[in-house]
Amino acid sequence: MSGRTQARACPERTCVGCRARAAKSELLRIVAVGDACVPDPRGTLPGRGAYVHPAAVCVDKAVRRRAFPRALRSPGALDTAGLSDAVAAVAAAAP
Ligand SMILES: [Zn+2]
Repeated sequence: MSGRTQARACPERTCVGCRARAAKSELLRIVAVGDACVPDPRGTLPGRGAYVHPAAVCVDKAVRRRAFPRALRSPGALDTAGLSDAVAAVAAAAP
């Protein structure tokens, strides 16, 4: 992989919903699969990722300000209809 080097110790990402910085491990990675946004809780899907708190309020904010297509560099709109439910399911499954 190329690109910017990240500090190894505690990688931080910005939540695209509330714009707060948080440890990567506290955020949920979202990737675009086709033209839909899907959560990637294990961080294994290829491509760009957007990070959001696994909370409905942050997902809703991100969807409303169209942060996902921007963060994921999508040329068109992304389907986020199922994202809130998917994130809720991931959050519920988390310990
Ligand atoms: Zn947030």
